[in-house]
Amino acid sequence: MQFNQTDLLEKALRMEFLTAEEGQFLFEKAPLSELMFTAHQLRKKQKPGNKVTWIIDRNVNTTNICIANCKFCNFYRVPGSPEGYITTIEQYKKKIDETLRFGGDQLLLQGGHHPELGLKFYTDLFSELKKLYPQVKLHALGPPEVAHIAKLEKLSHKEVLSALVQSGLDSLPGAGAEILNDRVRRMI
Ligand code: SF4
Repeated sequence: MQFNQTDLLEKALRMEFLTAEEGQFLFEKAPLSELMFTAHQLRKKQKPGNKVTWIIDRNVNTTNICIANCKFCNFYRVPGSPEGYITTIEQYKKKIDETLRFGGDQLLLQGGHHPELGLKFYTDLFSELKKLYPQVKLHALGPPEVAHIAKLEKLSHKEVLSALVQSGLDSLPGAGAEILNDRVRRMI
């Protein structure tokens, strides 16, 4: 089906939802400058003003031991692997000090689904990091890790999240939430 690009951009500017086909048409045919202009206008409608902010953070991994076995993953090592590791507090300190020197103030802290690291490991870790660096935000774990900890501990997701927040978790990354198609998500 053929769409009219101008009509679709005007529809978007009226804050009306586009269908998947209309979105795909714009993705494939519309000049980038017009998409950028439209996105900018929509952003101004929802967030007036010209203040734009960003955050400097550093990705640090808690452990590479994982039992999830995602097909695409070249990062994880199975339990017992000689290449497996759990990051130590001394290693966190070195990485955080470097991050602070470069103006950063957030850690994106994720890792594998370690079969022996339960809730206490993470609450102790977050508390320790917050005690050492209260100014550093912990953008940490993700829904699959929360689900893994909940399963290990036989707790609800809410109970795990509450304990993590109490010990210093500031926000939760999406961690695969951007895979919007259930069939593709299941395959991966
Ligand atoms: S859960 Fe993460 S670390 Fe584990 S296999 Fe999947 S992508 Fe790799």
